[in-house]
Amino acid sequence: MKNHWGGWSLQTKLSSCIIAVSLFIMATASLWFYDAVKNLQHAERIAEINACAEPFFKAIEALSFERGRSNVVLAAEAPISEQNREFIRGRRIQADSYLLMGEEQLRRIDSALAERLHTEYKQFQLLQSQLDEQIQLPLARRNPAIRDEWIRQSTEFIFFIRDIIDSMGRRERTLGVFDIYHHFQLNCVEFRLFSGYGASVLTAAIGTGKPLSSAEYQAYLESRAKADYLWEQIDNDSANFDNPILQETLQRVYHEYYQIYRPMQTEILSQLLLKALPKESGERLAAHSVPAFDSIFDLIAVIDRETRTHVEQLTHKAERGFRIAMSQFLLTSFFVAFFLIYFRSKLFAPMGRIVEGLQNILDGQQISGLETDVQREDEIGLLARGTLTLQEKVSEERRLLQLQERLATTDRLTGLFNREMLNQRLENVLAHADRYREPLSMILFDLDHFKTVNDTWGHPVGDEALVQTAQTVKSVIRGADLLIRFGGEEFLILMPNTMEAGAVAAAEKIRIRLAENRHPVAGVVTASFGIAERATGEEFADWYKAADDALYQAKKTGRNCTVCHGALRSSITPLRLQWVPEWNSGHPEIDAQHRLLIEMANEYFNVALNPLAKSAGAVSLLTNLLRELATHFDFEERILEQIGYPRVKEHRRIHHEMLRKAATLNESYQSGEVKLSSFVSFLVDDVVIGHMLQEDQLYYTLTREKFGSQHLI
Ligand code: GH3
Ligand code: MG
Ligand code: MG
Repeated sequence: MKNHWGGWSLQTKLSSCIIAVSLFIMATASLWFYDAVKNLQHAERIAEINACAEPFFKAIEALSFERGRSNVVLAAEAPISEQNREFIRGRRIQADSYLLMGEEQLRRIDSALAERLHTEYKQFQLLQSQLDEQIQLPLARRNPAIRDEWIRQSTEFIFFIRDIIDSMGRRERTLGVFDIYHHFQLNCVEFRLFSGYGASVLTAAIGTGKPLSSAEYQAYLESRAKADYLWEQIDNDSANFDNPILQETLQRVYHEYYQIYRPMQTEILSQLLLKALPKESGERLAAHSVPAFDSIFDLIAVIDRETRTHVEQLTHKAERGFRIAMSQFLLTSFFVAFFLIYFRSKLFAPMGRIVEGLQNILDGQQISGLETDVQREDEIGLLARGTLTLQEKVSEERRLLQLQERLATTDRLTGLFNREMLNQRLENVLAHADRYREPLSMILFDLDHFKTVNDTWGHPVGDEALVQTAQTVKSVIRGADLLIRFGGEEFLILMPNTMEAGAVAAAEKIRIRLAENRHPVAGVVTASFGIAERATGEEFADWYKAADDALYQAKKTGRNCTVCHGALRSSITPLRLQWVPEWNSGHPEIDAQHRLLIEMANEYFNVALNPLAKSAGAVSLLTNLLRELATHFDFEERILEQIGYPRVKEHRRIHHEMLRKAATLNESYQSGEVKLSSFVSFLVDDVVIGHMLQEDQLYYTLTREKFGSQHLI
């Protein structure tokens, strides 16, 4: 599998190598297995053919003896002797049982051929019964054709068996060395047949009591020449066998046949060519033929044993092959299983966890799952511990970085964001507002007379007051608002998705809360607020200036108040007192004076609250207004005395108090401590709301009673 970096993982590479090696071993094991199966099949095949060929060879041996001896008996003048009858009977029994055995084996390999053998043998047995009848008779009464017929048919039958053996060898093409064995045995059989035939010709000729005819001589020479040729082949082929017993048996055959029996034949032959020989010569020849021919079949038996050994060796080899193949299969399977289980759990799984851990460190996530790996006292343990250490170091570094970032964007004293934070956020906030066409407002506020706080109570108290202010403001604003300590005692609030009216409401809320707040030492520290809503696409500097202008105006107006830049721009004076019928006292002169005072106040507000108006105009209006106010108080007190208003004394005291406050305010204004706009609050709160609407109302019932009708007219 490909890893994160696009290459093949170590696990994949190693697994591939292991699988390749395993496949290679498995392939060689398969070859061993295949070879073993082949060897086993080969051995079974050879054993099968050999099991079939062996009784046939034996049958041929018995039949050959029967053929030769019968030939001799048929040539003799007298009926068969007891000795020969026994000899033939014994051989026939042997041939019978071997043929039966052979046929049984053959039926497994080639049932058709077995069937043919059966038929042929039946026919041969017919011939045998004819032969049995004939040999009971003296020569004169025998059918002269029977001897030729016997030789011909018995030879044919023997060769038929020989061909069966040959065909079995030929049907198997991969017999290897067995092929040589097989042919060697066949050559031996043929050698036996030709030499046997030659011998029987001689013996038979002696039996006739005549010299050897030229036809017989011809037949003898032919079979002898064939036998010699075959012997030469056998001798040559024997070099293929590294078998001392075979060599020894060959020596024995050579001795029995070529050194004893053949010289005897040659001697008898030289005599028989000239004259008839006595019967004893034939019997001597026949007696010597048996050990010679028996020894030939010993050769076949030796090869038979050799074949069995060969089969055993092949079986052995096959078993060894099976064992090797099995052990290779088992070893490879064990190896692969071991690799899969051990290496996976001990190497690749922990490595995977470590790699995942490192990846998590890179991604800034916590790592887990290395608890057992770190316990290990090997390379994996070292790697796991290293990974954990790295994680700690990286976390620490990240924490320090965050702290550093926070310190860089946080005001130490109040814990609020500082200007750096504003710089960082501003671009996003402005872009967001522009993209979604959302309103964006700014409140700029500055603590009032803060220098006095410092000067009076000392810097630490000033600091405390600043902190308290910050906390108060923070508790009032919304989470989305960005509160920033902009300068010493100047603060800025960015209010996303907020219009001017909303910002005014928020500012008023803050203002009132600050005005309610009391620091244990410094007392109440109020603030003045400037508000500006940002026009779409407006530069921060312009926007800020607008809020700053409004703040300046708030300070100018008398502090502890809120001024909107929008209101400044439209130059609309927000304040105007409107005369209402409830304000009628019933006394015409008093009411006229009240109306005049309201009018004069409105006129004054117009000038005093207009940032663009000259303050000089406002001062003269105010002076006139205060003078008119004092005159009015005087007149009103006299009227109230006349009508016997019970609270007249108290009323006079309040009038006096107001005039004193007006004088104090005037003094403060003259010394520059308060702005001209402070009189607005005095006129509205103290004179109109506090006095006309509350205190004066108390005598209106009385005046309305006394003068009401006049007034109504
Ligand atoms: P105004 O109402 O016109 O704003 O009057 P003010 O006295 O508040 O204005 P001014 O600008 O004259 O004085 C501001 C004072 O705020 C001066 C300075 O000593 C004080 N100040 C600024 N930063 C700090 C601070 O961090 N701690 C303390 N204790 N005082 C500060
Ligand atoms: Mg200030
Ligand atoms: Mg200031």
